[in-house]
Amino acid sequence: MIEKTILIVDDTVTNLDILSDLLCEYDVIEATNGKDALEIVEEDSINLILLDIMMPEMDGYEVCEKLQSNPKTKNIPIIFITAKTDEASIVKAYDIGGADYVTKPFLPKELLSRVKKELQIQDMMDELKLLASTDPMTKLYNRRYFSKIALHTLDLAKREKKPLSLIMLDIDKFKNVNDTYGHSVGDEVIIHLANEMKSNQRKSDISARFGGEEFLILLPNTDIDGAKVVAQNLRKAVESAKIIYDGKNTLHYTISLGVSQMDLDTNQTIEDGIKLADDALYEAKESGRNRVCTQ
Ligand code: GH3
Ligand code: MG
Ligand code: MG
Repeated sequence: MIEKTILIVDDTVTNLDILSDLLCEYDVIEATNGKDALEIVEEDSINLILLDIMMPEMDGYEVCEKLQSNPKTKNIPIIFITAKTDEASIVKAYDIGGADYVTKPFLPKELLSRVKKELQIQDMMDELKLLASTDPMTKLYNRRYFSKIALHTLDLAKREKKPLSLIMLDIDKFKNVNDTYGHSVGDEVIIHLANEMKSNQRKSDISARFGGEEFLILLPNTDIDGAKVVAQNLRKAVESAKIIYDGKNTLHYTISLGVSQMDLDTNQTIEDGIKLADDALYEAKESGRNRVCTQ
Protein backbone atom coordinates (compact mmCIF):
# COMPACT_ATOMS: atom_id res chain seq x y z
CA MET A 1 0.00 0.00 0.00
CA ILE A 2 1.22 3.49 -0.82
CA GLU A 3 2.07 5.46 2.29
CA LYS A 4 -0.24 8.38 2.97
CA THR A 5 1.22 11.80 3.48
CA ILE A 6 -0.31 14.09 6.09
CA LEU A 7 0.52 17.76 6.35
CA ILE A 8 0.27 19.25 9.84
CA VAL A 9 -0.01 23.01 10.12
CA ASP A 10 0.38 24.61 13.54
CA ASP A 11 2.33 27.63 14.76
CA THR A 12 3.17 25.89 18.05
CA VAL A 13 6.08 23.53 17.64
CA THR A 14 5.08 21.45 20.67
CA ASN A 15 1.74 20.71 18.98
CA LEU A 16 3.53 19.64 15.81
CA ASP A 17 5.72 17.29 17.85
CA ILE A 18 2.74 15.70 19.60
CA LEU A 19 0.84 15.21 16.35
CA SER A 20 3.88 13.85 14.51
CA ASP A 21 4.40 11.24 17.23
CA LEU A 22 0.76 10.29 17.15
CA LEU A 23 0.76 9.92 13.37
CA CYS A 24 4.03 7.99 13.21
CA GLU A 25 2.51 5.33 10.93
CA TYR A 26 2.10 7.98 8.23
CA ASP A 27 4.48 10.11 6.27
CA VAL A 28 4.19 13.47 8.05
CA ILE A 29 5.17 16.91 6.79
CA GLU A 30 5.10 19.87 9.17
CA ALA A 31 4.46 23.55 8.55
CA THR A 32 4.44 26.34 11.15
CA ASN A 33 2.46 28.83 9.09
CA GLY A 34 -0.14 29.04 6.33
CA LYS A 35 2.23 30.38 3.69
CA ASP A 36 4.59 27.40 4.00
CA ALA A 37 1.61 25.03 4.02
CA LEU A 38 0.32 26.44 0.72
CA GLU A 39 3.75 26.01 -0.85
CA ILE A 40 4.05 22.42 0.39
CA VAL A 41 0.69 21.35 -1.09
CA GLU A 42 1.80 22.72 -4.47
CA GLU A 43 4.93 20.58 -4.47
CA ASP A 44 4.08 17.42 -2.56
CA SER A 45 1.22 15.04 -2.97
CA ILE A 46 -0.72 15.46 0.29
CA ASN A 47 -3.55 13.12 1.30
CA LEU A 48 -4.81 14.96 4.37
CA ILE A 49 -4.21 18.23 6.20
CA LEU A 50 -4.49 18.81 9.95
CA LEU A 51 -4.95 22.53 10.25
CA ASP A 52 -4.74 24.82 13.27
CA ILE A 53 -7.06 27.83 13.14
CA MET A 54 -5.39 30.45 15.30
CA MET A 55 -2.10 31.32 13.68
CA PRO A 56 -0.50 34.74 13.12
CA GLU A 57 -0.55 36.36 9.66
CA MET A 58 -2.72 33.79 7.90
CA ASP A 59 -5.22 31.88 10.02
CA GLY A 60 -6.46 28.36 9.30
CA TYR A 61 -9.71 29.56 7.74
CA GLU A 62 -7.80 31.59 5.17
CA VAL A 63 -5.50 28.65 4.41
CA CYS A 64 -8.57 26.45 3.95
CA GLU A 65 -10.25 28.96 1.62
CA LYS A 66 -7.11 29.24 -0.49
CA LEU A 67 -6.85 25.44 -0.74
CA GLN A 68 -10.53 25.18 -1.68
CA SER A 69 -10.23 27.74 -4.46
CA ASN A 70 -7.34 25.91 -6.13
CA PRO A 71 -8.54 22.99 -8.32
CA LYS A 72 -5.31 21.16 -7.59
CA THR A 73 -5.82 21.20 -3.82
CA LYS A 74 -9.55 21.51 -3.31
CA ASN A 75 -10.06 17.78 -2.84
CA ILE A 76 -7.51 17.37 -0.05
CA PRO A 77 -9.52 16.78 3.12
CA ILE A 78 -8.86 19.18 5.98
CA ILE A 79 -9.33 18.37 9.66
CA PHE A 80 -9.29 21.50 11.77
CA ILE A 81 -7.61 21.04 15.13
CA THR A 82 -8.17 24.01 17.35
CA ALA A 83 -8.76 25.38 20.81
CA LYS A 84 -11.79 27.29 19.53
CA THR A 85 -14.88 25.51 20.82
CA ASP A 86 -17.66 28.01 20.09
CA GLU A 87 -20.45 27.00 17.75
CA ALA A 88 -19.81 29.76 15.19
CA SER A 89 -16.16 28.78 14.74
CA ILE A 90 -17.11 25.15 14.24
CA VAL A 91 -19.88 25.95 11.74
CA LYS A 92 -17.56 28.25 9.81
CA ALA A 93 -14.94 25.50 9.55
CA TYR A 94 -17.45 23.16 7.90
CA ASP A 95 -18.98 25.95 5.78
CA ILE A 96 -15.69 26.80 4.12
CA GLY A 97 -15.00 23.18 3.25
CA GLY A 98 -13.42 21.55 6.29
CA ALA A 99 -13.98 17.78 6.44
CA ASP A 100 -13.84 17.48 10.22
CA TYR A 101 -13.24 19.50 13.36
CA VAL A 102 -11.38 18.42 16.49
CA THR A 103 -11.04 20.61 19.57
CA LYS A 104 -7.94 20.82 21.74
CA PRO A 105 -7.15 19.15 24.03
CA PHE A 106 -8.01 16.13 21.89
CA LEU A 107 -8.12 12.45 22.73
CA PRO A 108 -5.15 10.98 20.82
CA LYS A 109 -6.85 7.75 19.79
CA GLU A 110 -9.98 9.56 18.73
CA LEU A 111 -7.97 11.86 16.51
CA LEU A 112 -6.18 8.87 15.02
CA SER A 113 -9.55 7.24 14.25
CA ARG A 114 -10.81 10.40 12.58
CA VAL A 115 -7.67 10.60 10.47
CA LYS A 116 -8.09 6.96 9.42
CA LYS A 117 -11.75 7.50 8.57
CA GLU A 118 -10.96 10.57 6.48
CA LEU A 119 -8.26 8.72 4.53
CA GLN A 120 -10.69 5.84 3.94
CA ILE A 121 -13.31 8.24 2.57
CA GLN A 122 -10.65 9.72 0.31
CA ASP A 123 -9.75 6.26 -1.04
CA MET A 124 -13.41 5.52 -1.71
CA MET A 125 -13.83 8.82 -3.53
CA ASP A 126 -10.79 8.06 -5.69
CA GLU A 127 -12.18 4.63 -6.51
CA LEU A 128 -15.60 6.07 -7.38
CA LYS A 129 -14.02 8.68 -9.62
CA LEU A 130 -11.99 6.00 -11.37
CA LEU A 131 -15.08 3.82 -11.83
CA ALA A 132 -17.07 6.74 -13.20
CA SER A 133 -14.38 7.85 -15.62
CA THR A 134 -12.89 4.64 -16.99
CA ASP A 135 -13.92 1.61 -18.95
CA PRO A 136 -13.41 -1.41 -16.64
CA MET A 137 -12.13 -3.74 -19.37
CA THR A 138 -9.42 -1.55 -20.88
CA LYS A 139 -8.87 0.98 -18.06
CA LEU A 140 -9.01 3.68 -20.72
CA TYR A 141 -11.26 6.68 -20.17
CA ASN A 142 -14.88 6.09 -21.07
CA ARG A 143 -16.87 8.12 -23.55
CA ARG A 144 -18.52 10.33 -20.93
CA TYR A 145 -15.27 11.31 -19.26
CA PHE A 146 -13.59 11.81 -22.63
CA SER A 147 -16.29 14.30 -23.62
CA LYS A 148 -15.79 16.14 -20.36
CA ILE A 149 -12.02 16.54 -20.63
CA ALA A 150 -12.20 17.15 -24.37
CA LEU A 151 -14.22 20.31 -23.63
CA HIS A 152 -11.50 21.66 -21.35
CA THR A 153 -8.78 20.62 -23.79
CA LEU A 154 -10.53 22.46 -26.63
CA ASP A 155 -10.85 25.61 -24.50
CA LEU A 156 -7.19 25.43 -23.60
CA ALA A 157 -6.14 24.90 -27.24
CA LYS A 158 -8.12 27.98 -28.24
CA ARG A 159 -6.69 30.09 -25.47
CA GLU A 160 -3.11 29.02 -26.12
CA LYS A 161 -3.61 28.94 -29.91
CA LYS A 162 -2.09 25.45 -30.07
CA PRO A 163 -3.31 22.86 -32.58
CA LEU A 164 -5.56 20.03 -31.41
CA SER A 165 -6.13 16.81 -33.35
CA LEU A 166 -8.23 13.69 -33.03
CA ILE A 167 -7.76 10.09 -34.06
CA MET A 168 -10.68 7.70 -34.28
CA LEU A 169 -9.84 4.04 -34.72
CA ASP A 170 -11.68 0.78 -35.10
CA ILE A 171 -10.61 -2.85 -35.24
CA ASP A 172 -10.86 -4.35 -38.73
CA LYS A 173 -13.29 -7.19 -39.27
CA PHE A 174 -13.58 -7.67 -35.55
CA LYS A 175 -16.76 -9.62 -35.95
CA ASN A 176 -14.64 -12.28 -37.66
CA VAL A 177 -12.26 -12.37 -34.68
CA ASN A 178 -15.19 -13.07 -32.36
CA ASP A 179 -16.72 -15.59 -34.74
CA THR A 180 -13.46 -17.43 -35.35
CA TYR A 181 -11.81 -17.39 -31.93
CA GLY A 182 -14.65 -16.68 -29.53
CA HIS A 183 -15.76 -13.64 -27.57
CA SER A 184 -13.15 -13.94 -24.80
CA VAL A 185 -10.30 -13.93 -27.32
CA GLY A 186 -12.04 -10.90 -28.85
CA ASP A 187 -11.88 -9.27 -25.43
CA GLU A 188 -8.16 -10.01 -25.24
CA VAL A 189 -7.67 -8.30 -28.59
CA ILE A 190 -9.49 -5.20 -27.32
CA ILE A 191 -7.31 -5.16 -24.19
CA HIS A 192 -4.21 -5.61 -26.33
CA LEU A 193 -5.17 -2.64 -28.49
CA ALA A 194 -5.83 -0.50 -25.41
CA ASN A 195 -2.38 -1.37 -24.08
CA GLU A 196 -0.78 -0.52 -27.43
CA MET A 197 -2.58 2.83 -27.30
CA LYS A 198 -1.28 3.47 -23.79
CA SER A 199 2.29 2.56 -24.62
CA ASN A 200 2.31 4.58 -27.86
CA GLN A 201 0.78 7.71 -26.42
CA ARG A 202 2.51 10.79 -25.13
CA LYS A 203 1.75 12.00 -21.64
CA SER A 204 -0.58 14.76 -22.82
CA ASP A 205 -2.60 12.53 -25.18
CA ILE A 206 -6.02 11.40 -23.97
CA SER A 207 -7.17 7.95 -25.05
CA ALA A 208 -10.67 6.62 -24.60
CA ARG A 209 -12.81 3.63 -25.45
CA PHE A 210 -15.63 5.19 -27.40
CA GLY A 211 -17.71 2.11 -28.04
CA GLY A 212 -17.28 -1.66 -28.39
CA GLU A 213 -14.20 -1.81 -30.62
CA GLU A 214 -13.98 1.89 -31.38
CA PHE A 215 -11.45 4.21 -29.75
CA LEU A 216 -10.52 7.87 -29.72
CA ILE A 217 -7.30 9.73 -29.05
CA LEU A 218 -7.23 13.45 -28.42
CA LEU A 219 -3.84 14.99 -29.17
CA PRO A 220 -3.16 18.43 -27.69
CA ASN A 221 -0.43 20.52 -29.24
CA THR A 222 -0.51 18.38 -32.38
CA ASP A 223 -1.46 19.31 -35.95
CA ILE A 224 -2.85 16.89 -38.50
CA ASP A 225 0.59 15.88 -39.78
CA GLY A 226 1.75 15.04 -36.26
CA ALA A 227 -1.46 13.12 -35.60
CA LYS A 228 -0.98 11.17 -38.83
CA VAL A 229 2.45 10.05 -37.62
CA VAL A 230 0.98 8.95 -34.27
CA ALA A 231 -1.80 7.09 -36.11
CA GLN A 232 0.64 5.36 -38.48
CA ASN A 233 2.88 4.31 -35.61
CA LEU A 234 -0.06 2.78 -33.77
CA ARG A 235 -1.28 1.08 -36.94
CA LYS A 236 2.17 -0.43 -37.53
CA ALA A 237 2.56 -1.51 -33.88
CA VAL A 238 -0.77 -3.34 -34.08
CA GLU A 239 -0.04 -4.87 -37.47
CA SER A 240 3.23 -6.36 -36.27
CA ALA A 241 1.91 -7.60 -32.92
CA LYS A 242 1.27 -11.25 -32.22
CA ILE A 243 -1.56 -12.11 -29.87
CA ILE A 244 -1.09 -15.38 -28.07
CA TYR A 245 -4.35 -17.06 -27.21
CA ASP A 246 -5.11 -20.34 -25.44
CA GLY A 247 -1.49 -20.16 -24.29
CA LYS A 248 -0.05 -21.39 -27.57
CA ASN A 249 -1.80 -20.13 -30.71
CA THR A 250 -1.17 -16.76 -32.29
CA LEU A 251 -3.38 -14.37 -34.16
CA HIS A 252 -2.92 -11.02 -35.86
CA TYR A 253 -5.34 -8.16 -36.26
CA THR A 254 -5.33 -4.73 -37.84
CA ILE A 255 -6.97 -1.37 -37.24
CA SER A 256 -8.18 1.49 -39.43
CA LEU A 257 -7.77 5.07 -38.33
CA GLY A 258 -9.30 8.44 -39.22
CA VAL A 259 -7.55 11.68 -38.33
CA SER A 260 -8.92 15.21 -38.02
CA GLN A 261 -7.65 18.54 -36.75
CA MET A 262 -9.91 20.90 -34.83
CA ASP A 263 -10.61 24.23 -36.48
CA LEU A 264 -10.00 26.61 -33.59
CA ASP A 265 -11.16 29.71 -35.47
CA THR A 266 -14.77 28.62 -35.75
CA ASN A 267 -17.36 27.34 -33.32
CA GLN A 268 -16.54 23.77 -34.25
CA THR A 269 -17.37 21.44 -31.38
CA ILE A 270 -15.53 18.29 -30.31
CA GLU A 271 -18.50 16.34 -31.70
CA ASP A 272 -17.88 18.01 -35.09
CA GLY A 273 -14.21 17.03 -34.88
CA ILE A 274 -15.15 13.45 -33.98
CA LYS A 275 -17.55 13.37 -36.95
CA LEU A 276 -14.71 14.41 -39.29
CA ALA A 277 -12.39 11.76 -37.83
CA ASP A 278 -15.21 9.24 -38.16
CA ASP A 279 -15.73 10.18 -41.83
CA ALA A 280 -11.99 9.69 -42.41
CA LEU A 281 -12.19 6.34 -40.61
CA TYR A 282 -15.05 5.35 -42.90
CA GLU A 283 -12.88 6.20 -45.89
CA ALA A 284 -10.04 4.07 -44.44
CA LYS A 285 -12.45 1.15 -44.15
CA GLU A 286 -13.87 1.67 -47.65
CA SER A 287 -10.45 1.91 -49.25
CA GLY A 288 -9.22 -1.42 -47.89
CA ARG A 289 -8.71 -1.16 -44.06
CA ASN A 290 -5.40 -1.32 -42.11
CA ARG A 291 -4.69 2.29 -43.06
CA VAL A 292 -4.82 5.91 -41.94
CA CYS A 293 -7.02 8.49 -43.70
CA THR A 294 -7.39 12.18 -42.93
CA GLN A 295 -10.41 14.47 -43.01
P1 GH3 B 1 -15.11 -3.33 -39.77
O1 GH3 B 1 -13.77 -3.70 -40.29
O2 GH3 B 1 -15.96 -2.71 -40.82
O3 GH3 B 1 -15.00 -2.48 -38.55
O4 GH3 B 1 -15.83 -4.68 -39.36
P2 GH3 B 1 -16.18 -5.22 -37.92
O5 GH3 B 1 -16.53 -6.64 -38.01
O6 GH3 B 1 -15.07 -4.88 -36.99
O7 GH3 B 1 -17.41 -4.29 -37.54
P3 GH3 B 1 -18.81 -4.62 -36.93
O8 GH3 B 1 -19.31 -3.27 -36.46
O9 GH3 B 1 -19.66 -5.35 -37.89
O10 GH3 B 1 -18.55 -5.54 -35.70
C1 GH3 B 1 -18.03 -5.10 -34.50
C2 GH3 B 1 -18.07 -6.25 -33.55
O11 GH3 B 1 -17.43 -5.92 -32.31
C3 GH3 B 1 -19.47 -6.67 -33.19
C4 GH3 B 1 -19.46 -6.78 -31.68
O12 GH3 B 1 -20.04 -7.97 -31.24
C5 GH3 B 1 -18.01 -6.74 -31.32
N1 GH3 B 1 -17.76 -6.20 -30.01
C6 GH3 B 1 -18.12 -4.99 -29.52
N2 GH3 B 1 -17.70 -4.86 -28.23
C7 GH3 B 1 -17.07 -6.00 -27.89
C8 GH3 B 1 -16.41 -6.46 -26.70
O13 GH3 B 1 -16.34 -5.79 -25.67
N3 GH3 B 1 -15.85 -7.70 -26.75
C9 GH3 B 1 -15.89 -8.47 -27.87
N4 GH3 B 1 -15.32 -9.66 -27.83
N5 GH3 B 1 -16.52 -8.07 -28.98
C10 GH3 B 1 -17.09 -6.84 -29.00
MG1 MG C 1 -2.16 28.37 17.06
MG1 MG D 1 -14.56 -2.88 -36.62
